[in-house]
Amino acid sequence: MAGNIMPNRLDRAFYQYQDELEAKALEVLRSGWYVLGPEVQEFEKEFAQYTGSRYCVGLASGLDALWLAFRVLGIGSGDEVIVQANTYIASVMGITINGATPVFVEPDIFYNMDASRLEELVTERTKAILVVHLYGQAANMEEILEVCKRHRLRLVEDCAQSHGACCQGKMTGTFGEIGCFSFYPSKNLGAFGDAGAIITDDEELAKSMRIYRNYGSEKRYYNKVVGANSRLDELQAGLLRVRLRHLSRLTAERRELACRYTRELQNQRLHLPQVRPGCDSVWHQYVIRTKEREGLMQYLERQGIGTIIHYPIPPHLSEAYADLGHQRGDYPLAEEYADTVLSLPLYNGMTREEQTFVIEALNSFPG
Ligand SMILES: *Cc1c(COP(=O)(O)O)cnc(C)c1O
Repeated sequence: MAGNIMPNRLDRAFYQYQDELEAKALEVLRSGWYVLGPEVQEFEKEFAQYTGSRYCVGLASGLDALWLAFRVLGIGSGDEVIVQANTYIASVMGITINGATPVFVEPDIFYNMDASRLEELVTERTKAILVVHLYGQAANMEEILEVCKRHRLRLVEDCAQSHGACCQGKMTGTFGEIGCFSFYPSKNLGAFGDAGAIITDDEELAKSMRIYRNYGSEKRYYNKVVGANSRLDELQAGLLRVRLRHLSRLTAERRELACRYTRELQNQRLHLPQVRPGCDSVWHQYVIRTKEREGLMQYLERQGIGTIIHYPIPPHLSEAYADLGHQRGDYPLAEEYADTVLSLPLYNGMTREEQTFVIEALNSFPG
């Protein structure tokens, strides 16, 4: 029997709110205003309020949010930024686009940065820590904040996978100077094209970000800095506003799916994800580990169940970063995770039958 289950699918989440989304799309198309207009302004207000931060600035992507964050903080050539070794490569690009050097730290058992290893990596060049709330789970912010305070480091958060995730009741993105978000369609709060944003409590940083996103101009044709074209468009902002209204329910649905996996998966060969006490996860991914990954993927594929690896090559071993001079063995934990992690199908609108099919297949995986 073939399951025909994709690792992720976005059509279901569209149909859940089809009427509202289609009405908003038509409204924007008919409005005659398509980039940085009233929908963007409203979205910025609503997303700032949702996260509990003072300012939100809409941007064109999550990568832009990251590199512009370091740009407005004045971090660049000669500076070091500590980032976890097991992240999506965009986190690292946010650092290197500015000419700064990424210094990698090993992950903990929750796939976040291991806060206990930060101290030993701080040098006189270290300017900031980039924490990634990977797979939807908030990192150990208490300890990370302590290190930042002790060494006067800036803190930037990569929240591309953690919309709505909290640590000690406080939302990810509000711990540091700047929280960076992606609204790429597959993220928990997904647009229907590329989109991103930053949140901050600092008025100057927000102002600076608004200047940078629009060619460095505050007043039309008066350019203060060499900026970027990273404007959020009205269509994406409008559709994100619709989705944001339903984000709590969408997150609850992901939590239920994840809980059921944890409750019902029973196979000694599979290591299940754990959640740190005091922090929570919005389950961007449900990531298991197994030494028999290749065999498991093929076994599932034969039954029509698709899975994805997030991520098979850690940034320090990526061809793109060959010039950093790292080798296999430099970050053994991150490398082990890269060799063994596997993301199970989990998406809004996944049916009970689909999940039952996946669970039964996994529980009868003979190894
Ligand atoms: C998706 C993602 C990004 C980049 O976001 P884009 O909108 O694709 O540019 C950055 N960091 C992490 C952890 C991501 O998952």
